[in-house]
Order: sequence, then C-alpha cells, then structure tokens
Amino acid sequence: MTHPETDVLVLGSGIAGLSTALGAAREGASVTVATKATQPKGASTWWAQGGIAVARKAPRQFKEDIHTASSGTSDPEALDVLVQNADAAVRDVLIDTLGVGFDTGGDGASFHYGREAAHSEDRILHVDASTGRHIHEPFLNYLAAHDRVEIRGDTAAIDLLAQNGTIHGALLKSGDAVQRLHAGATVLATGGIGALYGRSTNPAGATGDGIAMAHRAGAATADMEFVQFHPTVCVVDGDPFLVSEAVRGEGAVLRNAEGDRFMPAVHEDAELAPRDVVARAVEQAHERTGRVVLDVSSFDFAGTFPDLAAMCAEHGVDPSTGIPVVPAEHFLCGGVDVDTYGRASLDRLYAVGECARTGVHGANRLASTSLLEGLVWGLRAGTDAQGAAPREQPVPVSTTAAGSPPSDEALRGAFECLQRTMDVHVGLRRTPDGLQQARHDIRSVEADVKAWTDPSARRGVHELRSACTVARLIAEAAAANETSVGCHYMERSDAPPAS
Ligand SMILES: Cc1cc2nc3c(=O)[nH]c(=O)nc-3n(C[C@H](O)[C@H](O)[C@H](O)COP(=O)(O)OP(=O)(O)OC[C@H]3O[C@@H](n4cnc5c(N)ncnc54)[C@H](O)[C@@H]3O)c2cc1C
Repeated sequence: MTHPETDVLVLGSGIAGLSTALGAAREGASVTVATKATQPKGASTWWAQGGIAVARKAPRQFKEDIHTASSGTSDPEALDVLVQNADAAVRDVLIDTLGVGFDTGGDGASFHYGREAAHSEDRILHVDASTGRHIHEPFLNYLAAHDRVEIRGDTAAIDLLAQNGTIHGALLKSGDAVQRLHAGATVLATGGIGALYGRSTNPAGATGDGIAMAHRAGAATADMEFVQFHPTVCVVDGDPFLVSEAVRGEGAVLRNAEGDRFMPAVHEDAELAPRDVVARAVEQAHERTGRVVLDVSSFDFAGTFPDLAAMCAEHGVDPSTGIPVVPAEHFLCGGVDVDTYGRASLDRLYAVGECARTGVHGANRLASTSLLEGLVWGLRAGTDAQGAAPREQPVPVSTTAAGSPPSDEALRGAFECLQRTMDVHVGLRRTPDGLQQARHDIRSVEADVKAWTDPSARRGVHELRSACTVARLIAEAAAANETSVGCHYMERSDAPPAS
C-alpha cells in the first residue's frame, strides 16, 4: 500500500460530491474525487427527472412547502440555509459555470418553471424530464479539466481511516489494488440506499456505503427510518423507470384495475398529495385490485414529456392505455448527521447529499429539493473542508482476519435475502413484529458477510456489508419510533383493512 495525500478527499461523484469538489478547488485546495461509478449513470444525479427547485421571489412560501411536506419535522435552520442559498447557487454553478440549458418559456428568454406535487408555486427549473444528465455530464467534464481536481473512477472507498475520533482519509479499492489515501478532510457523498430493496429507482451501486463507513467509524446518524418510496415507478421485466411527479402535476390521474380513480377519496390534494400518502394508496390499490395505471389521456403526453414518452417506447409501454405503476424505494431522508456546513460528529469528516441528514427533509422530502440540497451543502462543505490541514503521519489500518470469499451464488443469495426482508418488513407499512423479524434476518446475513470480509474481498462483499449495516440502522430506527410520521408508517393491528 502507498500513502499519498490530498487536501480534500471526496467519496462519490454525484451532484453533492462534484459541488464539494468545486467549492474546495475554488478555495485553492487539492481535491481527489474517488467514485465507484464507471460511468455517469452510476449516480442517481444522472437519473433525476423533474428538476431543481428554486425560491424565486417567494422564499417564505418555499420554506413552508418543504416544512409542510415533512409533516412539520424539517429543521428551520437547515431550511433557511437551503432556501437562502438556492437561487444564487443555481445561478452561479449550474447556469453561469456549467451553462446548463434549462427550458425556457414561450418567449425563449425567461425560464420555464415547472410544478410538482405539494409545491404551491411554479418554481422548478428543468430540462424536459431528464434534468439530471444535463447537469451531471457538464459538471463531470468541467471538473475533469480542472487542474486542482483529480477524478478516480471505478474506485470504491471501503473504510475510513479513523484515529482517536478524527478521520484522516479512506481505504480505497480499485480492481484488486487497495490504497490508503490520506486527506486533510474526507467528504462522504456516496448517495442513497436503493439496493437494499428489491425495487428502487436508484442505480445498482446505491448500497449506502458512506453511511455504513461513518457508522463503523463512530459517527452519528439520524432519521434513518425515513425512507421515501416513489409512488409511480413503471417496472418492465424487472427494469424500473420512474414516471416523474411532473406528469401528475400536468394532470395525469391514478386508476385501479377497475378503472376507478382512488386518490380523491384518500386526500384532498388527490394525485398531488405528499408522496408517502400517494405511495401507500397505490400499494393498497395494487394489493386490492392487482393493477394501477397512470392515466395520461387528459393532455399531450408525448408533446409535454418527450423523454418519458421515449422511455415508455423503449420499454414497450403504450401510454395511451395507461402506464402501469407501483411504488419503489426512492430516497433516504436520514443519513450521517451533519450541521449546516456538512460537518459530521467526527473531526475532519463531512457528509453531503443523499447520504447526509441535514434536517432539510425531516420525515419526508418535497419533490425536486435533493439536487438543490446536494448543490448547496456541497459548496458549503467544500469551502469549509479546504481549511483542514493534511496529516503528516500515515494512520495505521486495523487489520481484519482474512475472509473466505463466497461463491457468486452465495453472495447473490445473501443480497436477495436482505432485500426480501426489507421489502416485506421495512417498506411502506411497518409493524413492531415485522421490524423485529427484520432485525433478526439482517443480523443473520451480517454474520455471513463478516466471515467473508477483509480489504481484499471483492467489491460486492463490501457493498453487501454496507447494505447490512444500513439496513440494520433503518430497522432499529423504525422500531424505536412508534409514531407514524411522514414516510415512516407504523400499521396498527387494530387498523381498518386497506380500501
Ligand atoms: C430516477 C430518479 C429521479 C430523481 N429525480 C429528482 C429530481 O427531479 N429532482 C431532485 O431534486 N432529485 C431527484 N432525485 C433524487 C436525486 O437525484 C438524488 O437524491 C441526488 O442526485 C443524490 O445526489 P448525491 O450526489 O448525494 O448522490 P448520487 O448522485 O447518487 O451519487 C453518489 C455517488 O457516490 C458513488 N459511490 C457510492 N458508494 C461509493 C463508495 N463506496 N466509494 C466511492 N464512490 C461511491 C456513486 O458511484 C455515485 O457516483 C431523483 C432520483 C432518482 C433515482
């Protein structure tokens, strides 16, 4: 192993990691971005559809909408930071620096602002319904050409270098090579946890690595029970694609297999109710009638959402007969507990983006606020992190006993076992008994993985190890919170049957 150094080590190359790298490099720091992605599609950022919300001239209204969507649980200080910095960060980075061509209105000069569920105003900048890739690719290209930033693809962080409550970098694995990279500051930007569930909108590598590494090193996590499920995901031959909330914003309605619209009876905002409400209703209507479709017949679907129409065509779905949808895991509101600069509870450790818990989302996230959170917190963390001094002495890495490698079949089987228990017991609706069963199942998979893990183990083993740790944190947090709020819903045994 070698011991090179960098001022700021960023783990992950989605919008949060890239914004951190930009913030730190602008301050003159040397930055290394290590990402396990082999292509831009490896980050959720690339897949983002609806867009990025800004405050425009109504910051108070924006804050109120986020707070209401969170069932009154978002943190006011975090909200102030998000909303006060939103428009300037989008203008500075996305428009002036990267030249993202957000859609304009009929005059071709001013932006077109879209609206999604639970937003009281039109405030979402977008590029058709494929905003993520139009932000992510220019961002990667810009930083790849930056002389203070090095981006290492296909490189996974497998542990943090921790000593006496301070983080000094990370253990990186690229192919079979394992390297210690020492850093003045280490920033987790490893994204979401979709791979813990059988059905998710996230890319396959979303195994919660950053949260698991932080937890192992002793950092605090928070709000882990708040896992958001997107209500309208179309799955064809096991391949899920998301149908953006913007489609419901445009007038699409949900119908069960009998052709009945069911959302008006569930919530006064019908299809535009908060995500958790719509997701549970879709799941229940699916269970009761066997099928739910998004009826897009009230407007010109292909003309309004050409990207989504193309995705339907690619998957052999005919939107004129209704797009079949189910809920799927989409976003983790909790994560590594951080302050308004992304500072975690351990010295020189930061977390930004989806792996962080800033307090913005509380128990539930308002649509199109997570790209913004990654951008705003990334810039702030990068600026703050550049001041941390690089270490002079290499940190010893505690050695784990050599693991015995599992067969591919055993590894896949263990992963599927974990996903099954998360789907059944830690999904949209939870019960105390189910959560107890889940914790038992997770511990049993964890025991297998422990015997397989050492630094030389292949990446899949490290990912399963992370997934188990995060699954356990979610199940434990869910069991500890008996109150249904936001996307954490505890089903009572005396509750009336699903309608
Ligand atoms: C289909 C879809 C549509 C969405 N639409 C919207 C939208 O319209 N608006 C909105 O605001 N939000 C949207 N979201 C949510 C939003 O895209 C994500 O929450 C956000 O992009 C997360 O950014 P991030 O930088 O934290 O993580 P990501 O973009 O997921 O990036 C994480 C990075 O970390 C890397 N990584 C992971 N583990 C490791 C490791 N161990 N070592 C090194 N690298 C690692 C990954 O390879 C990846 O590069 C959507 C999400 C999905 C999936």
